[in-house]
Amino acid sequence: MFCSSGKNSETNLVANDRRQDTKGSEIVLVQPKLADLEAQLAYTDAQARISERLSKIPLDRYNRLINDMLAIYNTATTCDYHDPLKCDLRLEPDYTDYLLFPYESPTFMAEINEAWEDIKPLYLELHAYVRRKLRDLYGPEKLGRQAPLPAHILGNMWGQSWINILDITIPYPGKFFPDVSPHMVQQGYTPATMFRIAEDFFLSLNLSGMPPDVRENSLLVEPPGILVICQPSAWDFCNKRDYRIKMCAKVTQSDLVTLHHEMTHIEYFMEYRNLHKAFRDGANPGFHEGISEAIALFVGSPKHLQTLGLLFGSEDDVPHNINFLYSMALQKLPFLAFSLALESWRWDVFRGDINKDNYNCRWWDYREKIGGVKPPVLRSEKNFDPGSKYHVPANIPYIK
Ligand SMILES: [Zn+2]
Repeated sequence: MFCSSGKNSETNLVANDRRQDTKGSEIVLVQPKLADLEAQLAYTDAQARISERLSKIPLDRYNRLINDMLAIYNTATTCDYHDPLKCDLRLEPDYTDYLLFPYESPTFMAEINEAWEDIKPLYLELHAYVRRKLRDLYGPEKLGRQAPLPAHILGNMWGQSWINILDITIPYPGKFFPDVSPHMVQQGYTPATMFRIAEDFFLSLNLSGMPPDVRENSLLVEPPGILVICQPSAWDFCNKRDYRIKMCAKVTQSDLVTLHHEMTHIEYFMEYRNLHKAFRDGANPGFHEGISEAIALFVGSPKHLQTLGLLFGSEDDVPHNINFLYSMALQKLPFLAFSLALESWRWDVFRGDINKDNYNCRWWDYREKIGGVKPPVLRSEKNFDPGSKYHVPANIPYIK
């Protein structure tokens, strides 16, 4: 890998030009074109000049304060209350340990990596297949036979889901289970209908129906004239009856599945509602999402959509099933690779194993090592690509 660690790494290039081919352990570098390089540097310089003009004095003061605080917190030590001579206790615990504490396993990181090793053979097949299809489409001169995939042609800003390139990579064109959204519209579905269908699903599993408060207080449709954060979520108001869903549902298959996902959270809230407050939570942070995603996977299956009368015919043949499984793989497998890269990078940052001289380089290092994905254009430490993912600046754990 090419991450530099010198003081001047700001001007060093991340991994030189990422248009390299990876051939086993051999790396063949292609020198960046000077014009590309100059354009990139001119762009970052322009960005820097703009931010300089923005309230320079308060921003400088703010940055100085933050840096001072960080330095104090990172270096200050204190003494043990019971052992006054032991004075090497850090004020801040290791933040990575803190993040992983709820999983109650000292070997959590190793377990996650082991789980990835189990999934990796399938991911590698998907990666190779997608690369072949994209090479056919864009031409072999644009994408090397063994090159990592450039993130910008994967149909998603972070390359974390490849579902948007389903149409150009599908194994059996013309043989897919259609998106049932038009049927939902034809049959007069509304977000309220979708809510009722989701509730019926849980009743059919002999689980609880939704308490009246959920229907009355949930926000299912984006209210006109009010700015809403539409990221779907489910809420437990901890009084054993008031639970709410917040989402800006549209009459689409994807939102029907999401509504089931959010309602699964509420079913789980209700299952533990009679426990002491301290125990009203998932077994670990991954559990809530795990259960909700399991239900969502089932609800989105062709079989279930047929049961709902939204999918017609019984095209239960190999091409249809392969296409369906392929579409699931495009959504789920790159997401796992992306999540593991993001958290591996973040754990290293909090542990101090990555310092700010190579934040961006190490980010792409992980993206390539784990997911075989490279940046679309030349990057450097003047860029901070992990910051484009909301969960990084907002400090929201992702591995769950
Ligand atoms: Zn969820």
